[in-house]
Amino acid sequence: MKQTKQTSNLELYKRLLSYVGPYRHYAVISLFGFIVFAAMETAMSHMMKYFVEGLESRDAVLIIYIPIAVVIIRLIHGIGGFLGNFFISRVGINVVADLRKQLFAKLLYLPNRYYDQHNSGESVSILIYNIQQVTGSVTNAIKTLLRDGLTVIALFSYLFYLNWQLTLSFVVITPILGGIASLVSKYFRNLSRRMQNTMGNITHIINEALQGYRLVRSFVGQKYEMDRFNAATDQNTRFNTKYERVAALQSPVFHLIIAICMAVILYLILLLWKDSPGLAIAYLTAAGLITKPLRSLSTINEIIQKGLAAAESVFEIIDMEPEPDTGSKELVVSEGRIEFRNARFCYEDDKPALKGLDLSIEPGTTVALVGRSGSGKTTLTNLLLRFYELDSGEISIDGQALGQLTLASLRRNISLVNQQTVLFNDTVANNIAYGENPEDIDRERIQQAASNANALDFIEQLPQGLDTIIGEDGTRLSGGQKQRLAIARALYKDAPILILDEATSALDTESEQSIQQALETLQKGRTTLVIAHRLSTIEHADKIIAFDHGELIEQGSHSELMKHQGYYAALHAAQFNE
Ligand code: ADP
Ligand code: MG
Repeated sequence: MKQTKQTSNLELYKRLLSYVGPYRHYAVISLFGFIVFAAMETAMSHMMKYFVEGLESRDAVLIIYIPIAVVIIRLIHGIGGFLGNFFISRVGINVVADLRKQLFAKLLYLPNRYYDQHNSGESVSILIYNIQQVTGSVTNAIKTLLRDGLTVIALFSYLFYLNWQLTLSFVVITPILGGIASLVSKYFRNLSRRMQNTMGNITHIINEALQGYRLVRSFVGQKYEMDRFNAATDQNTRFNTKYERVAALQSPVFHLIIAICMAVILYLILLLWKDSPGLAIAYLTAAGLITKPLRSLSTINEIIQKGLAAAESVFEIIDMEPEPDTGSKELVVSEGRIEFRNARFCYEDDKPALKGLDLSIEPGTTVALVGRSGSGKTTLTNLLLRFYELDSGEISIDGQALGQLTLASLRRNISLVNQQTVLFNDTVANNIAYGENPEDIDRERIQQAASNANALDFIEQLPQGLDTIIGEDGTRLSGGQKQRLAIARALYKDAPILILDEATSALDTESEQSIQQALETLQKGRTTLVIAHRLSTIEHADKIIAFDHGELIEQGSHSELMKHQGYYAALHAAQFNE
């Protein structure tokens, strides 16, 4: 399913860092803050020398100034830490926002095929969860690297300065730590990638069960959903446990290694120290202080791996090709003649959904597509909207080939009303004027559209009329009401070409009446493609086209086709005998 190309860690990290670019001034402030922080950490160790000297000499000046110096050093240390932490977090926050915007924008332009192959839970989880993991990587890793890295460098230099022989023993031990870290790194990356996939599964099941709650209840599917959810959660728990076990193990292992280092150093100090005992104490303090940043440096790998695994799937989507929009001409519909010439299309190889279709639709007429489910009717409309690209042949509108047109101009000229009306969590008015620039919204036209769609009656009964916020997906509206809003939306869009794909199939016959009337208003003066399950609703179409297995097998008016006694007549008879 995923074409995971193994990008090297370095490349991925470089790419992430390129997002830091615009915020580099924050990073510079942060770097400055952490340099101050690291310097003060070292200064604190050096204070131990004066402390011991003060103890020995009882010097009155030292006794007053040492406590004051401690407070001042801590204060500067604190300011440095604040600048460092806060400004690197600002970088992270902004990078996440940029990535999230870029990813969302990409998702809106991906070809339909992406959505055929990926469930929405997967994309939601990448947008929410993966991008948060990326913040972890950008902010925390850089923070640790700067703060603890600089502190380690400062303290190390100090240790070298005090006694380089002793300090060399540290240097010997560091590569061993590094070796262990890189071994664990590979294991981690794999594990966290798998962990994220199980999270996607969980989100997917939640979305399905909650969005389809009516279906779940009506089929008494609760147990099935629960089993499915529990299995996915258990799988996630197993991965998490495994992951945390390794994560938790890392720290004690490094701790032990550090303790052994310390033991060696203590032994060597006792054996070899020649300077003043004040410096010995300062040395020990610095060596003690270095363990904490060293330890967090050892966990940086874990943070980076998590982030990189997450970034990989984020970039995978960002790198996908958007739907091809190479045409440069703007569609101008003068009449609304639609022509299919030898149009061929397959969703999957070797299974043609449209086998060389030739079809002319006269301007301003209504053409009905009939045929068994799966015969290719929706496919035809998908191709007209260029949701998919033809394999061969051509489709044109008023002589303009679709491939040469911009997608936006094509789609602005076509209204689609189908079985599922998508409503946004916004006001009724904004739902009707969907797609219009906010400053161009024309209140009167909304009212007119609603009225022509027979929707004004029920809209006026809503608490705030056109300004009522309809909840997500319009749960409080009936199927017929939602459908009338969809018709109002199409009326407001006022495109010269109209596609009605089973627009009334989900409705009962009674509410269909008023909708049928609204649909007739909508069809006036437009080239219309109607797909209807109930043949009675398309008898008056100018032309009826019968489809089977992706091929046009009959066309003509209702009476011609009935006379012909072929496929359409048989479909018709079958429906009336139901
Ligand atoms: P109709 O609208 O006439 O019921 P469709 O045009 O939806 O039929 O489907 C035509 C054929 O293409 C069917 O065999 C269907 O299974 C297949 N098909 C439709 N949509 C897809 C898709 N997104 N991916 C793969 N195959 C599809
Ligand atoms: Mg269909």
